[in-house]
Amino acid sequence: MDQNNGRRVVLFPLPIQGCINPMFQMAKILHSKGFSITVIHTRFNAPKASSHPLFTFLEIQDGLSETDIRTDDNTWLFTLLNRRCEAPFRDCLTKLLKSSDLETGEKKQRISCLIHDSGWTFTGSVAESLKLPRLVLNVYTISYFRSHFALPKLRRDVNLLSQDPDQDDVVQEFPPLRKKDLVRLLKEKREYLEPYLNMILESTKSSSGIIFVMSCEELDQDSLPKAREEFKVPIFAIGPSHSKFPASSSSLFTQDETCIPWLDKQEDRSVIYVSFGSLASMTGPELIEIACGLRNSGQPFLLVVRVGSVKGTEWIEAIPEELMAKVNEKGKIVKWAPQQEVLKHRAIGGFLTHNGMNSVVESICEGVPMICLPCFWDQFLYARLVSDVWRVGLHLEHRIERNEIESAIRRLLFGSEGEAIRERMTLLKDKVERSVEENGSAYRSLESLIDHISSF
Ligand code: UDP
Repeated sequence: MDQNNGRRVVLFPLPIQGCINPMFQMAKILHSKGFSITVIHTRFNAPKASSHPLFTFLEIQDGLSETDIRTDDNTWLFTLLNRRCEAPFRDCLTKLLKSSDLETGEKKQRISCLIHDSGWTFTGSVAESLKLPRLVLNVYTISYFRSHFALPKLRRDVNLLSQDPDQDDVVQEFPPLRKKDLVRLLKEKREYLEPYLNMILESTKSSSGIIFVMSCEELDQDSLPKAREEFKVPIFAIGPSHSKFPASSSSLFTQDETCIPWLDKQEDRSVIYVSFGSLASMTGPELIEIACGLRNSGQPFLLVVRVGSVKGTEWIEAIPEELMAKVNEKGKIVKWAPQQEVLKHRAIGGFLTHNGMNSVVESICEGVPMICLPCFWDQFLYARLVSDVWRVGLHLEHRIERNEIESAIRRLLFGSEGEAIRERMTLLKDKVERSVEENGSAYRSLESLIDHISSF
């Protein structure tokens, strides 16, 4: 019998796709190590319990209205969620702990700890009052997480920064971000940024450990020792485990499965896959530029346009009929794709991405080179890691223009520059794969995480 049989871990994801997927990967890993899993989740963006018959699900009220959900300010949304969910979460966890105390005999299961997304900030006081150990699951890279606490201070200097003539220079407090990226990031509407980040910092430092679920030493270089010094709690960088535990089962959207038979008909490494994740939006003219750039490249393409992601329209009405006819000659547009399966497909030659952390890591795990078009927040940093540090992709430098897109596709798929990018990507993919395999750095980190949880 597994030594962890009879122990339960409670997980509490932040309700957005990019945070739900890594939390469910964590759940699957822990389950494979013998732990039972209970997921406490909000009503908003509730995960599909039927896709995970082995886990127990408990829903709490979040009190969000339709207007709250439609906000374009995520910091505000997360602040609201933290305010509204504290009492229901406390009740739910208290009842759960009580019921596990009442269990007897073989049924008895001790709750080892709570693992929550770093974006939940009230969990510290709740877990402390219930004497439950608490780990913070982090979906950022270690480097981004460390540096992003400097954002409120940098925001106060944004006017100075935007007038700096050397916009291509790296920001000292936030490498490898360039000044022009930071100016964009700091202009985002983010009310409550400073108090929210302070609460995250406090909640992280008072936890029993931090899990970086998509980072490993190979991807985060020298950030790990620095983070250990700063946070003074155990840190586990367990690396991407996408090949063993795919994210598709935790999708909040219906995946268009016709993508795969369509890809089957395309030549090897010929297709450009385009997706901007679950949150980013664009304008109608931007969609037209992207569609024209793809079409003019002459390559087949698979473009994901989420319903409601083109401002002021329902779906792809912004594309005029004449252009749509041309797009349909070589392209396919879907509302949501089975992304990991798509990236795995032999026909994919490149990924035009918004550089969400999940997308970047999934692309690396499948060895697909990228074209970077970051939209907000941490995406700006990951785009620089991809283009400037790992050099496994090209950066559009924030130009959403048809000629730029067409030329980037050609540079990536043909010629020596693309060849060198592919070679580096193969090396990076191998390095990350070795890290999660037996005795790799991420593998060892996961082993010590399991020991840590078992010691509670
Ligand atoms: N995704 C998907 N189908 C799509 C687009 C995205 O399955 O058409 C998944 C993708 O595989 C990733 C997640 O949604 O796991 C998006 O997370 P990411 O961190 O890349 O971006 P976010 O949505 O947080 O901006």
